[in-house]
Amino acid sequence: MDNVSYQRFPTVRIRDIKDDVLKFELRDTDASIANALRRIMIAEVPTLAIDLVEIESNSSVLNDEFLAHRLGLIPIVSDRAMEMRLSRDCDACDGDGRCEYCSIEFHLSVKCTGDQTLDVTSLDLVSSDPSIIPVDAAGRAADMGGFESNDTRGILIVKLRKGQELKLRAIARKGIGKDHAKWSPAATVTFQYEPEIHINEALMETLTLEEKQEWIDSSPTKVFELDPVSQQVVVVDPEAYTYDEEVLKKAEAMGKPGLVEIYSKEDSFIFTVESTGAIKASQMFLNAIEILKSKLDAVRLSFDTEEADDQFGELGAHMRGGGI
Ligand SMILES: [Zn+2]
Repeated sequence: MDNVSYQRFPTVRIRDIKDDVLKFELRDTDASIANALRRIMIAEVPTLAIDLVEIESNSSVLNDEFLAHRLGLIPIVSDRAMEMRLSRDCDACDGDGRCEYCSIEFHLSVKCTGDQTLDVTSLDLVSSDPSIIPVDAAGRAADMGGFESNDTRGILIVKLRKGQELKLRAIARKGIGKDHAKWSPAATVTFQYEPEIHINEALMETLTLEEKQEWIDSSPTKVFELDPVSQQVVVVDPEAYTYDEEVLKKAEAMGKPGLVEIYSKEDSFIFTVESTGAIKASQMFLNAIEILKSKLDAVRLSFDTEEADDQFGELGAHMRGGGI
């Protein structure tokens, strides 16, 4: 037995890091931690989203509720969301106005006067705080460095015909995906178990070259390859294996069970995290760790207080009641 391994702390190795995508390996931990981090990233890392809309005038083709819903789904730069207050916990305001602790105010006022249809987009939202703006507007500000960019046109809200007008005030608040999906910073968070693949070399050598190739080709993904020099079957990309078991079935069908053994490593996970743009993918992961830590601290604290003695007593009674 390896007596050291269980004392090791989980490790992270970054594979690919961009603003909106993060790929990393999480090692020396178990599925409960991997799953907790995944679920927190999706449902509990806070962002800002428009949560209250007051329409002053709307002669567009979309009704007020429809517009309010669309506005809610626009990703907003949320780097400060972690430190902001939830407006239901804020004691500095009544929760529906401009408040530096819990809300950001946006104004939008567009009227179509020309003969051409006018697009109203997220770029038309004017923020009370220049650092908190719709995500596409932030990209545009960065792209503009001297020359006009046509690629970032904002997110379309509604189109106006000549004479139509849209005027509104919107309040963005902090929230989490558990309350409403519009607050989730995650486009995707997935992880896979790292496969461990062992070829039985002796058994493999009983196959002809054609049989080897046939067996390799039975895998729907490119996991194995025939080494052109040694003519041996080698594993080129273990992570391409999708646990489809096709190569195992093929080996059986060829009368060579045990040709290859494939396990999933129970303590290693490969994560892919994609952000909506509200916060960077890497920040989403760091915030999730922070939130998991504070949850665990809360559990530990509750055991430290005298109050917890009673709960512990109850837990003990519960466990005895359960026949443990
Ligand atoms: Zn407030």
